[in-house]
Amino acid sequence: MIGKEEFWDDVKNELSKTMQTISYEIWIEKLEPVCFVDSTFVLAANTAMAKKTIDRSYLDQIREVVNSLDSFVTDVEIIVKDQEGEYLEKQSVSLPDKGLIVDEKYSHKNKGEKASPFLEKYTFETFVQGKSNEYALAAAKTVAENPGGKYNPLFIYSGVGLGKTHLLHAIGNYLRKKSPKTKVVYANCETMINELISVIRGGNNEDSNRFREKYRNIDVLLIDDIQFIIGKESSQLEFFNTFETLFQLNKQIVISSDKPPRDMPELDDRYRTRFSSGLLVDIQPPDYETSMAILNNFKEKESIQVDEEVLRFIATNIRSSVRELEGAFKKVQYFSTLSHQKITLELAENALKDMIKPDSAREITVEYIIDIVTDHFQLSSDAIVSKKRQKTIAYPRQICMYLCKELTDLSTTEIGEKIGGRDHSTVIHGCAKIEELINTDPTVKKMIDILIKKINP
Ligand code: ADP
Ligand code: MG
Repeated sequence: MIGKEEFWDDVKNELSKTMQTISYEIWIEKLEPVCFVDSTFVLAANTAMAKKTIDRSYLDQIREVVNSLDSFVTDVEIIVKDQEGEYLEKQSVSLPDKGLIVDEKYSHKNKGEKASPFLEKYTFETFVQGKSNEYALAAAKTVAENPGGKYNPLFIYSGVGLGKTHLLHAIGNYLRKKSPKTKVVYANCETMINELISVIRGGNNEDSNRFREKYRNIDVLLIDDIQFIIGKESSQLEFFNTFETLFQLNKQIVISSDKPPRDMPELDDRYRTRFSSGLLVDIQPPDYETSMAILNNFKEKESIQVDEEVLRFIATNIRSSVRELEGAFKKVQYFSTLSHQKITLELAENALKDMIKPDSAREITVEYIIDIVTDHFQLSSDAIVSKKRQKTIAYPRQICMYLCKELTDLSTTEIGEKIGGRDHSTVIHGCAKIEELINTDPTVKKMIDILIKKINP
């Protein structure tokens, strides 16, 4: 029989694997286990506000994990700290011999029901195949069907916006569905760096052990954007030890990067060799046919009326990445909605004239910054401009404000207008907040550096 503390530790451990680090730290870590009442696991939040947010945004996820760890515990209830007494009384009345406390750790584990860390929309089915990406797609599929097989490690590299993250999530989604027992961990720079920094900074064994536990006890490790993770000597070491252990155990490793190992001077030689020892594949910017296929795909998905000539215009002029194609398509759509006009070639030319200025460097716009930030935090792009105020959105929003101030010439008033019609004082406050964090928290500083690199490579 395990106690509430231990059970809660296991739940937290699972949640930390699937949630964004900041959300996890802000909302989950601070909860305290109170008791089991019948088949309900009761947790206490510090404030009524916290309870409200958790009820709204995280309760389902917590419930799912709780239930997957012990199928007898079917519900979760969040209370506010002061109500604890009331619940403890209730517990003593209803508890006797209900047998509701977990008696065998994980005995009823039902892994397939855990919350997914993978974006649903990034699957093999939604990935449009073309000359520019067919090898990467085929390799990713092979790995998903037969992890730990002949392509190990699989190393996928390309410029930004060409589908690396999409393919990594597709592998994860596929395995979750076809082989739910396989333990897949997706590590992007945000999760990994935060963990590595705490291992290194803390210098204590507990953090290191937790890190090792998490990463060594898995079947498939998907590492996105490794170029942002490596660099620091000590983090390389911890990371590579993990890598080596998994590799020796014949566990599948998939790595994405913006360049091949041979062009990563910061990489230790033996790892350059290791990374190159499996399969290296690149994704090229989409050729014209692939671009057309992708655009047609958007058109079908959005079920809107667009003539071929408009798609051809976009495919001819926007050549650099799929993300840009997506952006161009959305911009045309947006222009037509705003002006209540049908999508014509003329309208498209007008809408895209900034994006296709020949030879000019890419203009850094507020929209582009929002795109990169929402992508990083895996939010939908309208979350930033929405009125929502929960921390998981407000914080990335403040990061957008800060980056707009640093990377564009716009005034705080203009930035506020573009970020959901906010007041300039809100923008000033947001920027100050982020600046303060940058100066006090190295993980935030690192993240902002990464975002700036993503926006302005
Ligand atoms: P990367 O990780 O290489 O920077 P992403 O995987 O984030 O790129 O891709 C950027 C966007 O383009 C995503 O919305 C993704 O779904 C889309 N995308 C990229 N390649 C394809 C493709 N072949 N078919 C459909 N969508 C794609
Ligand atoms: Mg990516």
